[in-house]
Amino acid sequence: MFLKNKKVVVMGVANKRSIAWGCAKALKEQGADIIYTYQNERMKKQVLKLAEPTDLLVECDVAFDESIAKAFQTIQEKYDKIDGLVHAIAFANKEELDGNVSDISRSGFLLAQDISSYSLLAVAHHAKPMLNPGSGIVTMTYLGSERAIPNYNMMGIAKASLETAVKYLAYEFAADKIRVNGISAGAIKTLAVTGVKDYDQLIKISEGRTPDKAGVTIEEVGNTCAFLVSELAAGIVGDIIYVDKGVHLT
Ligand code: NAD
Repeated sequence: MFLKNKKVVVMGVANKRSIAWGCAKALKEQGADIIYTYQNERMKKQVLKLAEPTDLLVECDVAFDESIAKAFQTIQEKYDKIDGLVHAIAFANKEELDGNVSDISRSGFLLAQDISSYSLLAVAHHAKPMLNPGSGIVTMTYLGSERAIPNYNMMGIAKASLETAVKYLAYEFAADKIRVNGISAGAIKTLAVTGVKDYDQLIKISEGRTPDKAGVTIEEVGNTCAFLVSELAAGIVGDIIYVDKGVHLT
């Protein structure tokens, strides 16, 4: 167990299909204590079904600075220091995940960038004083940041921004021995993905490009996440690691 007694904040569990849940399970298997943040009361009910009764659950809607500040204050009061943070949060309006990118509205663009990219900087700002040296921050991205994937549209643009945020944040935080990295996960059927038009096609094509025709699982993404949070990944700084069973190769 390489994360024994480590405290890791996991943001973005919506249900048992969530990538964040795959991460929480893997982190727990390696001995970590998990602090869950949830977006709203509806999400809290879902997290309560999955978390251990003793786990700390904290509300954090990343659309609001006060909510982020309050969440990290609550975590600090309980734990003082933490050893990792998993950011598995994204949002874009459904109409921005369909049709033409040239039709994306200014407000839709800003919303997707705000929740899916800026939020990493915002939570990193509040987590920084609490993160022990040797900690790892991990976020989730997708191949649509690099290639024009049908209908991924606005989220692809937001993921490109997120990946660059990872690099700048990693450079800044390296001075405090805190590593920041991203995982470029393969397509997985989660709540977020159902917002993308013809998402079933996206998943089918993705699975078809893996060598064994089986898509990546949240557990496989979770295991890489646990590794990146831990000091086993001490030499990995500001990287985006593909965990997509080779989809990016072809
Ligand atoms: P999910 O729907 O299970 O998780 C998305 C989470 O984002 C939810 O828990 C939701 O509550 C949270 N969220 C949205 N707006 C928020 C806000 N304002 N404040 C706080 N939380 C908010 O879906 P998922 O696929 O597990 O998504 C997790 C991450 O993985 C996302 O960044 C997503 O883009 C990324 N990702 C997903 C796939 C995939 O195919 N599912 C592939 C690569 C990357």
